[in-house]
Amino acid sequence: MLFFAPPDFDRWIYPTSTPKPVPRIEIDVSEAPETKAWAEKARGVAQAWYGTICTLLATDSYKNPKVIRFVFSPKLNYPAGTANDTITFSAKWVTDHPEDFGVVIHELTHVIQQYPGSPTTPGWIVEGIADYIRWLKYEPAFRRPRLNLDKARYQDGYGTAATFLDWAGSKYDLRLIPSLDRSMRKGEDPMPWFEKFTGKDVDTLWKEFIDTLRKRA
Ligand SMILES: [Zn+2]
Repeated sequence: MLFFAPPDFDRWIYPTSTPKPVPRIEIDVSEAPETKAWAEKARGVAQAWYGTICTLLATDSYKNPKVIRFVFSPKLNYPAGTANDTITFSAKWVTDHPEDFGVVIHELTHVIQQYPGSPTTPGWIVEGIADYIRWLKYEPAFRRPRLNLDKARYQDGYGTAATFLDWAGSKYDLRLIPSLDRSMRKGEDPMPWFEKFTGKDVDTLWKEFIDTLRKRA
């Protein structure tokens, strides 16, 4: 049987970038030696997922770091944070949530995002993409975030934005997320991509998303 691609065929194919070699991952547990076993497992998760995350984002011109550092801190009062190629994890968080390797995926995505920090870079999309990789690609489906349909806003970022971006990309054009990512890498405003790929501005699209979820509920 012959297969004829429709003219908009590209929108059904998620565009992938070239895989990158996994950087060396250095672990510093000097301030929290009790986290050593978890840290080793976290390194394994990061090594296994690094190349995949690079292929799912617009990383063809991304400068692959030689080394990524995982630091474990007894002082941090939130689960983890990333600055350049260093991820700092809360020793308390990983001790209390030993099953939470999703936090590694989220922070590792921030390392790979490496956006230059332009004023046109919306924080909700940055966190939405990190959680998109985490919840929609890494975590099992039953653990995905459930939105409060009366209160959720896309500006909440994180799991809310992740779910929204995944829906918009799957419904309209799978090039949406990599295109948002690419423009933020260049320090450009990513927002026009919503209109370009869906024909709708982000607020109209959000209303449609919430209406769709309400019908499913
Ligand atoms: Zn984050």
